[in-house]
Amino acid sequence: MKEFYDVLVIGGGPGGALAAKTAAETGLSVLLVEKRPAIGVPVRCAEGIGKDALAEFIEADPKWIAASVERAVLIGPNGTKFTISNEAAGGKVGYVLDRKVFDRELVWRAVEAGAEIQVHARASAPIMIGGSVQGAIIHQHGKIYEVRAKVVIAADGVESKFPKWAGIDTTVPLWELETCVQYIVNDIDIDPKANVFYISNEACPWGYIWIFPKGPRSANIGIGIAGTKSGEGHRAKDYLDRYLAKEFPNGKVTELIVGGVPVCRPLECSVADNLIIVGDAARLSDPITGGGIYNAMYTGKLAGNVAAAAIKNGDTSKKALMVYDKTWRDSHLGKTLVRNYAVKESFIKMDDKKLNSIVHSMSDMQIEDLSVKKLVLAIFKENPWLALELPHLLKAL
Ligand SMILES: Cc1cc2nc3c(=O)[nH]c(=O)nc-3n(C[C@H](O)[C@H](O)[C@H](O)COP(=O)(O)OP(=O)(O)OC[C@H]3O[C@@H](n4cnc5c(N)ncnc54)[C@H](O)[C@@H]3O)c2cc1C
Repeated sequence: MKEFYDVLVIGGGPGGALAAKTAAETGLSVLLVEKRPAIGVPVRCAEGIGKDALAEFIEADPKWIAASVERAVLIGPNGTKFTISNEAAGGKVGYVLDRKVFDRELVWRAVEAGAEIQVHARASAPIMIGGSVQGAIIHQHGKIYEVRAKVVIAADGVESKFPKWAGIDTTVPLWELETCVQYIVNDIDIDPKANVFYISNEACPWGYIWIFPKGPRSANIGIGIAGTKSGEGHRAKDYLDRYLAKEFPNGKVTELIVGGVPVCRPLECSVADNLIIVGDAARLSDPITGGGIYNAMYTGKLAGNVAAAAIKNGDTSKKALMVYDKTWRDSHLGKTLVRNYAVKESFIKMDDKKLNSIVHSMSDMQIEDLSVKKLVLAIFKENPWLALELPHLLKAL
């Protein structure tokens, strides 16, 4: 580890890997530090990503694709189903990754581009001079390093602390932090070509249960519930265990993971002097699905490019880096986050009776070229009472 780099990236997830690769490709000196001893583990993810979304960054490789999915199935509280084909979803249904391998591949590509990677290397504080970030204190194997950089990219994920230490409020309200538990369940009868989403406020309050296939008879089966809905005897794991006992009583569990997903609005500002915040650290996961792999890669790549341009121009001030914040907010990603937050807010607290009525009304829908907007408009058409209950949502679409 050297004392000085052009760019220091904190976190070796998809956001950090893309940021490091992109900045290194421009010829800058780049260091990526990852606090865990190995990239990609433990996996805290259901590993689903759209085929088109993935293709923006990397060619699909069977060595890190666990399953290729052809449809998504939404199941309402009483078991009513609504199926969306991959074509209708515009390529949004896609792959179930093997992130243990995928995340390593992304970081390896950053190494190939010239970035230096240090694992088991934890950033414990920013180096602040004159109120601005100038680098970070890194702990590795019992030693402490002071690493300075022209730009620091915080890609430290949902548990992000680095921006907070630098004075940016990154707090996620508890009710907007989904608390998640997931098992890999084997030897079960599933549709290996379908990602399944089960919604019910009784069975998974303010969240959903997912079944994402990892093979013909195995799947990631998990649940996310609002942090405020969790308590003694009704934690996410209790809800998931009840669901498994009912639906897959003979399934063999070989892995358990827990994790959090922010479903709040993004940070008010994702840059500061010499600092860019990407992916989950900037609270950029999708408020409806909790999906954040694409969003992390998108903002990681953008951050790498913006950092490189700012360094080349000799101005890494907040003002110069604001182009990063503005670009993602004005992009399809920023617009989707605003719209999906409004949709999530509108539907998340609905009781099972209303959810049943909505999913039932969807079951006969034939929608080509499906988008969240088109789907919500079709739901409003079939359920006129929603216009009275959610008048603001139509404006937000
Ligand atoms: C249960 C669950 C299911 C999910 N399912 C999906 C899904 O199906 N599809 C989808 O798209 N998204 C899903 N997500 C969300 C997805 O995992 C994240 O959005 C994505 O990983 C964000 O990438 P990132 O690079 O921003 O952060 P991360 O992937 O979290 O990477 C951050 C990295 O920073 C490291 N780090 C943290 N602090 C420090 C420090 N101080 N110093 C050094 N390193 C540090 C961490 O160890 C970590 O490796 C799911 C999340 C959970 C919890």
